[in-house]
Amino acid sequence: MISKERQHTMGSGGMCICPQCNTTVPHQSGVPCQERRCPECTAKMLRVGSEHHKLWLKKKTSLNKL
Ligand SMILES: [Zn+2]
Repeated sequence: MISKERQHTMGSGGMCICPQCNTTVPHQSGVPCQERRCPECTAKMLRVGSEHHKLWLKKKTSLNKL
């Protein structure tokens, strides 16, 4: 799978990313990223590579293009 290669460069355990300020923290197994809060701005975080994260990336990309 192509997506696995990209994830590997970001760490084997996966990452959570803040959609507000792009802060990333290592994903903790057993703790969904969406139940974690960003240490910087307390927003709900997204799992990098998840469907939610892909949708967010799409949104962000289309906004940047405008
Ligand atoms: Zn944040």
